[in-house]
Amino acid sequence: MSVNRRPANERRLTRRRFVAGTVATGAAAASSGAAGAAARPVRPKSTEIVVVGAGLAGLTAALRLHQAGRSVIVLEARDRVGGRCFSRPLGPHASDVANMGATWVGPTQDRIQALMAELGVRKFPTYSKGQLVWYEQGRRTPYTGLIPPLSDPSAIAELVTSLAAIDNIAKSVPLDAPWHAPGAAVWDAMTAETWAEQKIAHPDARSAFALSVEGVLSVEPRDISFLYLLFYVHAAGSLERLVANAGAGGAQDFRVKGGTQGIAIKLARRLGSKVLLGQPVRRISQDRRRVTVAAEGATLGAKRVIVAIPPTLAGRIAYTPALPALRDQLTQRVPAGSLIKTIAVYDTPFWRHQGLNGQANSDQGPVKVTLDVSPHNGTPGVIAGFVDGEDARVLSDLPARERRKLALRSYVRYFGPEAGRPRRFFDQVWDHEAYTGGCPVGVMPPGVMTEYGPALRAPVGRIHWAGTETATKWNGYMDGAVRSGERAAAEALAEL
Ligand SMILES: Cc1cc2nc3c(=O)[nH]c(=O)nc-3n(C[C@H](O)[C@H](O)[C@H](O)COP(=O)(O)OP(=O)(O)OC[C@H]3O[C@@H](n4cnc5c(N)ncnc54)[C@H](O)[C@@H]3O)c2cc1C
Repeated sequence: MSVNRRPANERRLTRRRFVAGTVATGAAAASSGAAGAAARPVRPKSTEIVVVGAGLAGLTAALRLHQAGRSVIVLEARDRVGGRCFSRPLGPHASDVANMGATWVGPTQDRIQALMAELGVRKFPTYSKGQLVWYEQGRRTPYTGLIPPLSDPSAIAELVTSLAAIDNIAKSVPLDAPWHAPGAAVWDAMTAETWAEQKIAHPDARSAFALSVEGVLSVEPRDISFLYLLFYVHAAGSLERLVANAGAGGAQDFRVKGGTQGIAIKLARRLGSKVLLGQPVRRISQDRRRVTVAAEGATLGAKRVIVAIPPTLAGRIAYTPALPALRDQLTQRVPAGSLIKTIAVYDTPFWRHQGLNGQANSDQGPVKVTLDVSPHNGTPGVIAGFVDGEDARVLSDLPARERRKLALRSYVRYFGPEAGRPRRFFDQVWDHEAYTGGCPVGVMPPGVMTEYGPALRAPVGRIHWAGTETATKWNGYMDGAVRSGERAAAEALAEL
């Protein structure tokens, strides 16, 4: 099945059907209003729980509630499910797709892997045979292992020590309340860059540290609090697990057969007509008896609502009564990283014949990190290249052909002239996506975690919060999204 072709049940879930049939709609209310001043108020359709957002968090929450015998409706703004999991077809085989968002799963990501098993979605190992490419100050060096061969050996030693130091300090950060870490006040008052300036003397080691922050979070080290970085590292287990090369026991070890959006599509199929597309939620009102969720063209009444979207987007919904100050202020302070994912498709994975595994790391942008994302059978050859942080801010508003030219220039540096002549090239500018607002995850600048962190998951009356940003394990990843959906579903169930 092509993941881009919407399954039959999804096709049925159109806005037209929704507006026309099953619930009270803005359109219906407007037309009855036009018919005369005495028009009867339209009573919103009721369900037990409304879920806002059909990403992995929202769909998982909805499935667990449905499995518990509760009535649930998911309102999704886009005309597709999956959110940050979005796959485009690559060729005639339905399972050959390019993931424009999430791609990999790895060890200890137990909840996403359990969900995949439940849905019958399989994984396969990421291609990892051969050497990586390190490109530094205009010099290209193939290498193996985690640490790139920085030109000055003393920089390598310092980089290794610094990464280990971060892993060690991160262990002292409690995952469910990072603001209670012994050094929370100091660490949250500084950026990750400030920490690096204080603790990493060699500029090349500092630059390699910055590359790992950019590669993982698509922000510059100056953009995030050091406490937040420590929390994020601990939530994944270690920094090494986050940045590990494919096949080395980290987050990039496995690919998802059929693409990651396929997981969301299978979830949506289980929920059938309970998932309504094209329904951006604009207002949530609650009183002591119920909550009313108003999407652009429709209104639903419920006992509970789970808002499963990134915090910044949750802040764009209007709430009656207003949210507590801490929660509202939190939503103003969790900006997403800036990320363009580029995909270049070649007849063959020619780099493999040069003994390379398609992974490159570089101190020079705009594409600083690449990986081989060819289909399981290696045909066609596909490389994904990431433009992160400041580079993405510069490129995002350029015309597509200009972005392509600049990105391919990076590809050529790492893999030679053949890399400049892909059969196809496309990219996904996540900062342009109104219902995502940047990627891969909402991050916390200094001061946010200690001052506003307690508002991240705390329910507000009948409103529960989900989404990968609320996860205490694998925050920012699909695994975190699934965990957050399961946690929010359990919270709502306990209240019903
Ligand atoms: C380029 C990229 C690479 C990534 N790589 C990986 C990876 O390799 N492995 C990994 O595990 N994770 C990866 N991630 C992160 C992963 O995609 C996310 O952690 C996960 O998909 C988040 O799921 P979610 O349900 O929390 O949020 P989302 O996927 O953002 O879902 C939220 C949903 O809510 C909808 N929505 C928003 N506002 C409204 C509204 N007002 N009303 C109704 N609906 C609304 C959105 O359209 C969306 O469908 C990557 C992300 C990106 C972008």
